Order: sequence, then structure tokens, then C-alpha cells
Amino acid sequence: MSSNPESAMLPTYRRMPVAFERGEGMRLFDGDGKSYLDFYSGIGVMCLGHSHPTLVNALKNQAEKLWHVSNLYQIPEGERLAARLADVTFADYVFFTNSGAESIECAIKMVRKYHNDKGDKGKYRMVTMASAFHGRTLAGIAAAGQEKLTKGFEPLPDGFDVVPFGDLDAVKAAIGPNTGAIMVETVQGEGGIRPLPVETLRALRQICDDHGLLLVFDEIQCGMGRTGKLFAYEWADITPDIVTCAKGIGGGFPMGACLATKEAASGMTAGTHGTTYGGNPLAMAVGNAVLDEMLKPGFLDHVQEMSSLLLGRLGALQQRYPDMIAEVRGTGLMVGIRTPDIEPRLAVPDLVSRGLCAAPAGENVIRMLPPLILTETDIDDAMEILDKAFADWQSNGAPTG
Ligand SMILES: *Cc1c(COP(=O)(O)O)cnc(C)c1O
Repeated sequence: MSSNPESAMLPTYRRMPVAFERGEGMRLFDGDGKSYLDFYSGIGVMCLGHSHPTLVNALKNQAEKLWHVSNLYQIPEGERLAARLADVTFADYVFFTNSGAESIECAIKMVRKYHNDKGDKGKYRMVTMASAFHGRTLAGIAAAGQEKLTKGFEPLPDGFDVVPFGDLDAVKAAIGPNTGAIMVETVQGEGGIRPLPVETLRALRQICDDHGLLLVFDEIQCGMGRTGKLFAYEWADITPDIVTCAKGIGGGFPMGACLATKEAASGMTAGTHGTTYGGNPLAMAVGNAVLDEMLKPGFLDHVQEMSSLLLGRLGALQQRYPDMIAEVRGTGLMVGIRTPDIEPRLAVPDLVSRGLCAAPAGENVIRMLPPLILTETDIDDAMEILDKAFADWQSNGAPTG
């Protein structure tokens, strides 16, 4: 019996007092029928918005045929999705998971197995960057190395050397005889919407080549069209060895993927890794439907167009409220408003009550990850709410806790 009168759910989240009942496109609706403009997509997941007909049909059709068989059998829709992803990326192989954290786990194991099978058993360490986020498994929090994630969960798995964000000299200095890979988010999400410059990405590729290391990009948040290319690394014109993916790849169905070159994946032979649910027919049907939409001509151009529009409008907002907005940053439809004197954890619930869903991120950033299907009208609507909020905060003070 629950001894907690409020909730029997483990209280690891400070939830906002809103429960949505349904969603349609860019809009969410609560039980009273109040409409909210979704500029957050459930943490960058609902890339095609809510109740997209292609996804709804794919899931419904598959639900009536077959849900789950395990990876002990052939899954034709999975074969098809893997081949399509390989076709449009650097990858030769795809491993399907249920979440981002599992994609990271697969990447870490793949790196270790690669060097192990090459006879370099000692090369198990990864250089990672501060304020990163790589999921909530023990390895994931160790890789991110942020105290707010790790505190109280020690001992952490060994094997991660965290260097300051974007610091190439520190990366080089951290490489030792036991280093096997560099793993970074191409664009940091939770850390506060911080893109690594393309020159830095290219330099990381070079460092990996010079030292025989594998280059792993965590694109769980910034991949799948979010930056206006299918994957953010494409902006740098380089080829990674491993890329982790999740969030947008399922458009709301829980799934993820670990993409790899044949070389990087060479240690992952039959029996070395697995998952019960990963890549099941329901997930694969939806994953293929997401890709159907995303690969349509013009889809990514639309993301780029909406991105410049949104960034431009946010820049204008900054000029109207220079005392409150220190910076507008981001790339594609992954944007942040940095408000040094406003606590995003308190400002965001206020925005939500005004009908605009956003979320806090590191470095005092109000983060927006709208569905990639948004239109200029949605941007107008969001700006109207933001402008009103900042005007109120300017005259009455920002929300305090
Ligand atoms: C969300 C996220 C993860 C973890 O994904 P889960 O599905 O929550 O396990 C890992 N890395 C990045 C960059 C993320 O944004």
C-alpha cells in the first residue's frame, strides 16, 4: 500500500502541475481543453509533432499484425530500417535499442571490444567533455562526469576522462596509452545548447586518426533532422566511427540506435551484445514511417528555413530585453535563450502556464526543441507569448521560487 498520499511514482522528477490529454501537430491539450504550443517535443522526441497521421497509421497497422518476436528471429522491417539508415549515413551497421542510454552503452562496449579484438586490451578509456549528458546508466553518468548526476552513486565505472568543453589541448593532454575513443555530443543539449564548432569536430577526427582512436558522436538529441541535416556531424563534412541516436528516431515511440562503421563494429560478433525489446516490429514500423517523412524532399530545408526565422526572431527579442536576455544560441531547431538573472526552472513553468512548452537547460538557458514541422505561424504565436512574458517579468520581476 502506498504511504504517500500524493503519488506512488518514485519522486525523481519535479513535475509541473499540468497533465496533457491529447496532442495534435504543434499543439497539446489538457483536460480542460486548454491549448499549449509545444516548443519542446517531449525533450526533442516528437520531431513530427503529435498524432502525425503517417506514424499513427504505421503503429495501428503494425499493432494489428505483430508486436514482438525477439531478436532470435528475422525482423524484416528492422532489416529495412537498418539498410535505409546505413544508406543515408556513414554507417555500415545499426544496432536498435529502446533508449538513448542503451545506445550509449552499446557504443562504449563497441569501443572496448574493438580494441580488445585488435589486441589492445588496455585501450578501454574514453575522453569526454564537461557538461555533457550521455544518459542515466552508471557508465553514462560516469562519461558525463557532472557531479549533479553522479553524487551519491559512487563507485562509478572506470574509464572516462572528462576535459573542459571544446578544449582541444585538454583533449590531447588527456590521451594516454589506455585511451580508446573520444565521445562528445556534436551539439550539447542538456548542458545548455552548445554546438561544438565544425573546426573542433574536424580537429577531433584528426586527433582520433593520429592516435588510432574511435570517434563517437552522441547525436541522441541533435540527430534526426534537429539541426537541419539528418545528423549534426554532416555540417563538418567528416566521418565518425560510431553515432548514437534516439529521441527523434521514433517520433514518440521509445527507440534508439547505435550506428557504426564495419571497422568500428568488427568486435560485435554473434552473442556479444543483445536486447530483448530493441528493434521490435512495433518500433521498426514507426521508425520506418519517421524516416519516410524525414527523407521527403524539402523536409530538412524546411528545418533550416524555420531555424533562421526562429533564431532571427529570438535575436530581435533579445534586443527588446537586453537586460534579461544575454544570448540566443543554438543551431537548427535546437535553441536556447540565456537569462543570467532569471532561473529557467522557475521561468519555464510560467511560460507553460501562458501556453508555451519549453524546458530549462544548463547555464541558465531556456531551451526550445520544437517539432521539426513547425510553421511561421507557430513561430509568431510563440514569440507573442515570449514577448508578453518578458514584458511582464521586466515590469513585475521574473518568477521566483
Ligand atoms: C536524452 C539523451 C541521452 C539519454 O537518452 P535516454 O533515452 O533518456 O536514455 C543521452 N545523450 C543525449 C545527448 C541525450 O540528449
